[in-house]
Amino acid sequence: MVQNTKFQAYASLKVGEKLQQWEYEPAPLSRNDVEVEVTHNGLCHTDIHMRDNDWNVSKFPLVAGHEVVGNVTQLGEEVTGLQIGDRVGFGWIRNSCRVCDACLRGEENVCRQGYTGLIVGNHGGFANKLRVSADFAYKIPDGLDSASAAPLLCAGITVYSPLRTYIKYPGAKVGVVGIGGLGHLAIKFARAMGAEVTAFSTSPDKEAEAKEFGAHHFCNWKNAEQIKEASATQDLLLSTVSSEIDWEQAFGLLAKNGVLCLAGLPVSILNIPLLSLVFDQKAIAGSVVGGRRFMKEMLEFAALHQIKPMIETMPISQINEAMDKVVANKARYRIVLV
Ligand SMILES: [Zn+2]
Ligand SMILES: [Zn+2]
Repeated sequence: MVQNTKFQAYASLKVGEKLQQWEYEPAPLSRNDVEVEVTHNGLCHTDIHMRDNDWNVSKFPLVAGHEVVGNVTQLGEEVTGLQIGDRVGFGWIRNSCRVCDACLRGEENVCRQGYTGLIVGNHGGFANKLRVSADFAYKIPDGLDSASAAPLLCAGITVYSPLRTYIKYPGAKVGVVGIGGLGHLAIKFARAMGAEVTAFSTSPDKEAEAKEFGAHHFCNWKNAEQIKEASATQDLLLSTVSSEIDWEQAFGLLAKNGVLCLAGLPVSILNIPLLSLVFDQKAIAGSVVGGRRFMKEMLEFAALHQIKPMIETMPISQINEAMDKVVANKARYRIVLV
């Protein structure tokens, strides 16, 4: 008989409210669940969107946190492949149907039935413990420390998945738009995948840093001369920004057969010249997190190539200050709460 003790969490009790200490009774550990003692949480902008109910799917009290690393403390009776004490992580996807063609391919992010978000209707990682289906617990490779691994579980997979999908050959030209939590990881992954990487940013002072992350070139998004020079060159342009940008300018940077992929979530309308879309065989795509196949691969790839996010750590007791910092765009580039 598994004993239930309450989990100690940080929760928003109402829409937009600051987080406070709160405890809840977890659902009983089911046969396929794993329970972990949480050690690290990456802080993703989505946690703030959820706190503020920006997408009308939040339920309160809300315990956010979906870049979670912890150690296994309990296993459901049917769980295989994990042991007490294993270091595992959880990302955005909590559950999916497991039987549709997409799930069978390891692409649970496009499950035909729709997947369940880790913190949509359920409590997430801003707590001392978490219980989730063991199928969505990812072993963290030894070569990755827990603080570095946490942001890979959402930010990392969000850029890895489209890079992995659209980089077709070594030396492909890949542009990364925006150098932030997502963008700086995209530069690192694209470089390690063998691409020729250009960082596009509106902040010219980020050039040195972008090159340290692995960018071969830097292009100031607001410099018409530089943009003109880069036009029609990129095989893949990965946008990681969540603000509205000049999409026609982005589209113009694509080479023939080029793909403009949006991994950020701007709420705007694309205005695209269709003649160029057809005659230059361009494509526009969206990408949302990634399924189990790419998640496992990404963690191994990151460990092998030592791809780690640039992080600052803060104690979880300062979670509200950390959220303010993300809102003010002052995190460099990811905050990990310990
Ligand atoms: Zn996220
Ligand atoms: Zn499915």
